[in-house]
Amino acid sequence: MATVKRTPKVVIIGAGVAGITTAVTLQKAGFHDFLVLEKGGDVGGVWYWNHYPGLTCDVPSSLYQFSFAPNPDWSHIFAPGSEIQRYMSDVADKFNLRAHTRFDAEVVAANYTESGWHVTTADGTEYNADFVIAATGVLHHPSMPDIEGLESFEGDVVHTARWDDSLNTRGRRIAVIGTGSTGVQVVSALQREAARITHFVRTAQWVVWAPTGMPQLPLTGAVLRRLPRVNRAVYDTLLWGSGFLADITTKPTWRRRAVQGAVRASLRVQVRDRELREQLTPDYEPFCKRQVVSGSYYRAIRASNAELVNSKIERITPTGIVTADGRHHDVDLLIFATGFKAHNYMRPMNLRGRDGLSIDDAWDKGPRAYCMSAIPGFPNFFTVLGPNSPTASISLQYSSEVTARYIARWLERFRDGEISTVEVTEEATTRFNDGVADALGPTVWNTGCNSWYLTEGGTVDLWPYDRATLTRMLSKPDDRDYHLT
Ligand SMILES: Cc1cc2nc3c(=O)[nH]c(=O)nc-3n(C[C@H](O)[C@H](O)[C@H](O)COP(=O)(O)OP(=O)(O)OC[C@H]3O[C@@H](n4cnc5c(N)ncnc54)[C@H](O)[C@@H]3O)c2cc1C
Repeated sequence: MATVKRTPKVVIIGAGVAGITTAVTLQKAGFHDFLVLEKGGDVGGVWYWNHYPGLTCDVPSSLYQFSFAPNPDWSHIFAPGSEIQRYMSDVADKFNLRAHTRFDAEVVAANYTESGWHVTTADGTEYNADFVIAATGVLHHPSMPDIEGLESFEGDVVHTARWDDSLNTRGRRIAVIGTGSTGVQVVSALQREAARITHFVRTAQWVVWAPTGMPQLPLTGAVLRRLPRVNRAVYDTLLWGSGFLADITTKPTWRRRAVQGAVRASLRVQVRDRELREQLTPDYEPFCKRQVVSGSYYRAIRASNAELVNSKIERITPTGIVTADGRHHDVDLLIFATGFKAHNYMRPMNLRGRDGLSIDDAWDKGPRAYCMSAIPGFPNFFTVLGPNSPTASISLQYSSEVTARYIARWLERFRDGEISTVEVTEEATTRFNDGVADALGPTVWNTGCNSWYLTEGGTVDLWPYDRATLTRMLSKPDDRDYHLT
């Protein structure tokens, strides 16, 4: 019997790493009827939204790139954020993605009915699709602490994720609140020119030293451009080498203990002042939280115009900050490096699957998906870099590419008339998540710190396996795990 060939109509939500990867992967697999809906004014995701001083990639840029768009020309080993954003934009041009993208198009609703998906953007435009792929990121909705008196502050206030490029930072008394990677980068970048910089730190962070300011060696770009195979070998080697991070974070071996010992020793060597060192010493294991990487933070915080304050912030006054020890810190620029509401994923979108099931109800106990990408009750819907993605261990570009290829396999079967709908079963999702929960037991993220990896339900929202397991699990969909019509 002849099969009916159809062209699947796909909506991809988000144009960051995950959205770009998905779009290019679909193109390569022969699917061209896709539309990317992006809330921001350009591609890039976090690299579009974040442009605060000091923003730098904290993995070597030769690894933080798409395998399908190798770039030999990084100015630094750890490239500045603006350069990564330019790279993402160039990739969009190279693969003609802008023609497929609507910018300033925030998806506010997506509803599944018997006739497929109906997607609505904030301006009221409606789009129909056979498949919806959410590539909406985790670090997207800025989180602002509710501190008494904030509205009374008379100086400037900014969240790093919505940086105002017209802000003057030179010669000012700056307060930085928050001590994740961003807080550390901002303090390192602004300390030299600030009149005074005070870093308010609720919980100290381990800082792994790396040459984050080191330029790429001269001629490297020219050589690698002329020798694409060598360039590819560099990427493959870095990808392989990054397996060490997955190893030390997921397995409690001597290797983890050795690296943790080196991180502790690095603090002792770089900060000789005992009092400051005590303030900088966390009470949990290195790598338990999202690891901070910096070659300049300890130098910056040791400087005479810098101060680390561990005392709790009590309230904000028109001219500064009062801490629990009763001190008033005079401030005229208040910078919130307080991160994101990390488990929102595509919410607050009004996402409704089969029989009107809302994503809030489906996830009332926290985000959960099968193999990071499929959610029971949501037919023909997938996530890329969804729940349990390896944000702390494996290249996200690699993970996105593997996931997008997995999704393309379903599109092929739809195109070939083999299926009309695909929906993961509850049993498969439970089995997958039970396995993840067991595997998370011995990981470093489960050693007692309070991090943004933890969901409200107390589970760790990360990938507890190595890259080989990720590749295997997503190599080929298993029909037994899905309801197919
Ligand atoms: C400041 C910062 C620095 C980072 N540095 C590193 C690093 O050095 N190394 C590393 O490995 N990781 C880093 N990360 C983690 C980063 O999140 C990932 O590396 C990766 O960029 C995530 O890509 P994504 O596509 O999943 O999400 P995002 O980059 O967040 O992209 C999601 C996109 O979806 C859009 N979107 C969301 N909701 C909607 C909607 N309703 N409608 C339409 N569009 C929507 C957003 O506007 C955004 O453009 C960093 C994150 C931040 C915030």
